[in-house]
Amino acid sequence: MNFQLTKEQKEFRDTLRTFFQSKEIKELTNEIKNGPSDYDAREIYKLLGQERMLAPNFPEEYGGMGSSFFEAAILTEEMSYNGIPEALHVLSTLIVGNLILLSAKEEQKRKYLPSIANGDTNVCILYSEPKKGSDLSSLDSHAILEEDGTYLLYGRKVYSMKTHLTDYGLIAVRTSNKGSKYDGLTLFMVPLKNKNVTITPIPSLSDESLYEVVLDGVYVSSSDLIGDLDEGWTIINKALSVERTGLDYLVRAERWFDLVWNRELDENGISNENTLIELTRLGSKLDASKALTYKVIDEFDRLGAVDESLAAISKYYASELACDVVWKGHDLRGIGASLSEGHGYNPLYGSLEAAYRETPGLTLSAGTSEMMLETISKFRLNSSN
Ligand SMILES: Cc1cc2nc3c(=O)[nH]c(=O)nc-3n(C[C@H](O)[C@H](O)[C@H](O)COP(=O)(O)OP(=O)(O)OC[C@H]3O[C@@H](n4cnc5c(N)ncnc54)[C@H](O)[C@@H]3O)c2cc1C
Repeated sequence: MNFQLTKEQKEFRDTLRTFFQSKEIKELTNEIKNGPSDYDAREIYKLLGQERMLAPNFPEEYGGMGSSFFEAAILTEEMSYNGIPEALHVLSTLIVGNLILLSAKEEQKRKYLPSIANGDTNVCILYSEPKKGSDLSSLDSHAILEEDGTYLLYGRKVYSMKTHLTDYGLIAVRTSNKGSKYDGLTLFMVPLKNKNVTITPIPSLSDESLYEVVLDGVYVSSSDLIGDLDEGWTIINKALSVERTGLDYLVRAERWFDLVWNRELDENGISNENTLIELTRLGSKLDASKALTYKVIDEFDRLGAVDESLAAISKYYASELACDVVWKGHDLRGIGASLSEGHGYNPLYGSLEAAYRETPGLTLSAGTSEMMLETISKFRLNSSN
């Protein structure tokens, strides 16, 4: 495959760079930087949406540019380089939006995609339950079918990210107990601004809060169902691979690497030879991670699906590498040096101290490192295959 950007992709990247450097966006970025540490960039997302640049790979009739998944990845990288918090965008547009695009029926696409693409609607993910994050087939949350064809949702979800900024949650629930535990799961878009939904923050090391969401009888209609009834397991697996391109871990690793590298620079570049060797080695690993991530993205683009084990390799590599980068930064300067940088969001890169608190979560979210290794060994190392 070819990792070079096409002429059109370079032009798109340049347009984004000009857009992010505009006075209006810079002012908004500064406001975010000085606001609460759990950053809210929805105003910037809306401005991108007005230019049809928030969901570049959505077809034009759903508010996108009709371009490829590569453009979507370029947008995420450029957000990160320009200090625009990208986490909610990755959840809402890249993961949920693309899941709807790949797996939903036409009326479901028409209902949700245009408002996700213009930034009016933001969506979080409600899969994990207490002690059931790694084994989603054993979920307890459930939907009850009413006589009028609507569903009532009950359950308790945990560790949901950016929930307080979202309008809907993409939720996995049990709709049938027939068949194996992998049968009978269904995905719904559940409105979160509802009196029967309780959202409570879960304290976390990271600046990005996690939330518990309790649903105590929330009505949804059959048009809020994504895909087919009882067929959620297949879609969840497809969606997990979209979550595991490695892209959102790679962009963190890259910006933290730049932070570490720039701290080591003196008037002669990096004159300590050992430091230069160690950081160059990490830089090569970043290149490898980028190659893996774009290989996954290329598969999505061409096939609309991706090999589960390839996505696991990319997610594992990028998330562990992001940890290595931050820990190397601490090895070189010590925690004291990082603490003295302050707590806030640096307009370009964030702080290494905040990164230090964020890294453990990277090896858990979207599937733990152990689960990634299990997937890789199951599909790649089984000698009978
Ligand atoms: C920063 C962050 C953001 C998150 N965002 C979201 C979100 O937006 N939405 C959402 O639904 N969830 C989210 N999660 C939850 C995340 O997906 C789960 O934490 C993760 O899947 C692990 O599930 P668990 O915490 O229930 O751990 P468990 O599944 O209970 O696992 C506990 C430990 O046992 C290990 N383990 C479990 N099974 C096996 C096995 N078969 N083989 C080997 N080891 C095993 C795990 O690796 C882990 O170390 C987020 C988590 C974090 C940290």
